[in-house]
Amino acid sequence: MASTLFDLTGQVALVTGASKGLGRAMAVGLAKAGASLALCARDRSGLEATKAAVAAHGVRAEVFELDVLRAASVRDAVAAAISAFDHLDILVNNAGVNVRKTTLELSEEEWDRVVDTNLKGYFLVAQAVGAHMVARRKGKVINVGSIFGTVGMNNQLAYASSKGGVTMMTKVMAIEWAKDGVNVNSIAPTYFETPLVAALRNDPERFRFISERTPMGRWGQPEELEGTLVWLASRASDFVTGQTIFVDGGWTIW
Ligand code: NDP
Repeated sequence: MASTLFDLTGQVALVTGASKGLGRAMAVGLAKAGASLALCARDRSGLEATKAAVAAHGVRAEVFELDVLRAASVRDAVAAAISAFDHLDILVNNAGVNVRKTTLELSEEEWDRVVDTNLKGYFLVAQAVGAHMVARRKGKVINVGSIFGTVGMNNQLAYASSKGGVTMMTKVMAIEWAKDGVNVNSIAPTYFETPLVAALRNDPERFRFISERTPMGRWGQPEELEGTLVWLASRASDFVTGQTIFVDGGWTIW
């Protein structure tokens, strides 16, 4: 008989930033493992496209418009998802933005937008979903961080600061909810080919630098997050919490 260790049948996952990029790929990855999906972001047409990709795997998917910069929007979307599905078992905190400028060029507005989306947004969504999970004494929270939550890079002041915060947020939530049946972990990717990094992908010099800086010599493909994600979402990781798992082709080795 096949192992059910990584099976997510009957589980419901809420994914933020599900309208494109890694969020869409991760939603499809969870669907392949059997999970139903609550798909959240601002762009409804992008969410509908993800819904179609998810539905192709035979699971239920619903779309919820959500702006992580607005607390009321977070509350409403999470409540609507719980009402639609009855419960949530998995949260993928993923909605994120970046502004690549030097510290001297970065404006206050740009700092606020990046840190509020990537850090405060994760807090608001995790608090809303976490309250539900703690009450049920069951849940898996997966915060999408970045290698730049741990190692530095120029032109990433607000982004790297927010991702360093995600690493610490993961540890604090993990401690607080450890005895409540809720695991909190983070996936820290290197450069993956998505709209977020299209400008770097299209710059030959930058593209070469990133490839050569990576021990495996290449960028990640969105579906390469799937294995780590399903592991962290499934009972296979029941005794793992507070950890940041690098999916980075070796970037953080040196
Ligand atoms: P994309 O730009 O492709 O997608 C970003 C997603 O975030 C979109 O679905 C967007 O949806 C959503 N989003 C942005 N702002 C908000 C908001 N205010 N409210 C709700 N949703 C929002 O980026 P990626 O898929 O590449 O990145 C996803 C995550 O992965 C981010 O946290 C990023 O930092 C992280 N990451 C990405 C890497 C990469 O190389 N691609 C590397 C390391 C980490 P919409 O606009 O519809 O609201």
